[in-house]
Amino acid sequence: MFIDYEKFEQNLRSVQESIERVEALAGKPAGSTRLLPVTKNHPLEAVQYALRAGLPNVGENRVQEALGKMEGADEALNWELIGPLQSNKAKKVAERFYRVQSVDRAKIVNALQRHAEEADRTLRILLQINAGNDPAKSGARLEDAPALLDAALGQSHLKVDGLMTIAPLDENPEAARRCFAALRECRDRLSDQFGVELSELSMGMSGDIAEAIVEGSTMVRVGTALYGERNYK
Ligand SMILES: *Cc1c(COP(=O)(O)O)cnc(C)c1O
Repeated sequence: MFIDYEKFEQNLRSVQESIERVEALAGKPAGSTRLLPVTKNHPLEAVQYALRAGLPNVGENRVQEALGKMEGADEALNWELIGPLQSNKAKKVAERFYRVQSVDRAKIVNALQRHAEEADRTLRILLQINAGNDPAKSGARLEDAPALLDAALGQSHLKVDGLMTIAPLDENPEAARRCFAALRECRDRLSDQFGVELSELSMGMSGDIAEAIVEGSTMVRVGTALYGERNYK
């Protein structure tokens, strides 16, 4: 059984409180970290709950699943792709998504540019970097980030908002924290080198929100802590 709206509101309050607590501890302005509800594997209600609570952006990791939900969902929702993207799905993605956080190679940059141009819209993107050097995680290698950014900045219909990473699965929270610090440092270097802002750092999930905020996250992507486990069916 999927949770009801009251339970969602409770979860949301507690996630927001913990974000605010860490922001205060880290000396960051309250509300400087955005919360992106991750609705993957959950029914359409999950995106409706988010919108009703004043959070119009939602994260989905599978293109097909997201396109299905869009059919029945409110126009006001902004869909963010946070999962792997194949170039054969790039057309639909460029037409329908607000932002793609999982851009990790030049081939995808080129495909999204071509289809965004055809659709006459500007698509926001984040470059996904494997900042934790985890063989199990996707994302460009840290040393390939400059070439990837160079490819993306030259595109007329893409806007590079910043970087995204997924921390390695590790019981030790220090591993996640090192990964997040590495992403921030990568952003600072790229920003200097290319003279661009790259203001978004999308990092942190249910299990490592605090580490991410301390290291400068501007957006935490949270599924389980808001909606419960994904295997409830
Ligand atoms: C599933 C997912 C999340 C959310 O994970 P939780 O641990 O449920 O908060 C965040 N980011 C990405 C890329 C995901 O695939």
